[in-house]
Amino acid sequence: MTPTVLVSGGAGFIGSHVTVELIQAGYNVIVADNMSNCDKTCYNGAQKITGRKIPFFKMDFCNRRAVEKLFQTNKIDAVIHFAAFKAVGESVAQPVMYYRNNLDSFLNIVDAARTYGCPNILFSSSATVYGQPEKLPVTEESPRQEATSPYGNTKQICEDVLRDSVKAYGNIRGIALRYFNPIGAHPSALMGELPRGVPNNLVPFITQTAIGKRECLSIFGNDYPTPDGTCLRDYIDIVDLAKAHVCAVDRMMADKMKEPYEIFNIGTGKPVSVMELVNAFQKVNGVKLNYKIAPRRAGDVTAVWADPSKANKELGWKAQRTIEETLKAAWTWELFIAHK
Ligand code: UDP
Repeated sequence: MTPTVLVSGGAGFIGSHVTVELIQAGYNVIVADNMSNCDKTCYNGAQKITGRKIPFFKMDFCNRRAVEKLFQTNKIDAVIHFAAFKAVGESVAQPVMYYRNNLDSFLNIVDAARTYGCPNILFSSSATVYGQPEKLPVTEESPRQEATSPYGNTKQICEDVLRDSVKAYGNIRGIALRYFNPIGAHPSALMGELPRGVPNNLVPFITQTAIGKRECLSIFGNDYPTPDGTCLRDYIDIVDLAKAHVCAVDRMMADKMKEPYEIFNIGTGKPVSVMELVNAFQKVNGVKLNYKIAPRRAGDVTAVWADPSKANKELGWKAQRTIEETLKAAWTWELFIAHK
């Protein structure tokens, strides 16, 4: 029988791309989302791309009864958890809201999974758990650093919830994927990022500036100790990132895990500076970007990029797309939503 994967937050940016890749790899997918931070654009896009009617539940994962019912009434073989708040600044201003939402939802999922026979749990974590690493690139063995925001802390706590639950209950296994900087959009231009209000992240800010929704991009600091003075990050294409989830689910389903709880870095392994990214965007899309150098942004780390060799070797996954392809897709998506 075709295995079924529940994707919490499956209507969002990452969740919708993962939904498509899972379906294309032969899985059944159930999407559940409370739609608190997205509309149905990406979900509809996922249906168009796959040519499938994808089962959808509008529900909040903080609602314990609703989560139990979902697991009771559907045979779920694996769950991937994306449904969470993700704005760092907002989490500093609203810590209780962030802790409640991001922790309750995951606790409900882990509890329902272990109780109703879903053995495989995948958690979407983040490179934010590494803070500013002493040694670069970062491996999975690099120490986590104390989180600088409630958002970052919820990622660390959820990792620990999964690690401890796998150890204690014996009937579940777990994988945490630590994403570096996911960017881009589906090459079909039917799915992409839809930030509400002013984007915090670099690429949505770039595309919105290029199209004229924003006047000017601020490059936060050019006095960092890096080759061109701007910060270094590991930008990972959203489709590549989504494929890593399929590899991780395959690994769990095939019982190929070396440990019942595993962590993988999901990145390209190549550092790219803010300035390089801005220049690549302009060049590949033939657009001129209005930008200025602004002061550093509080809380930004200077440089972080992945050593993805564990994922390369163990998951059989590798980032494929070039930064140019990715930035082209991001721009095509911005044009698509502007004309919608
Ligand atoms: N950045 C920038 N201007 C912006 C948004 C981001 O210069 O409007 C820089 C930011 O300082 C960081 C990089 O772009 O060096 C990536 O930031 P983003 O918020 O996308 O991801 P983060 O790495 O902070 O999670």
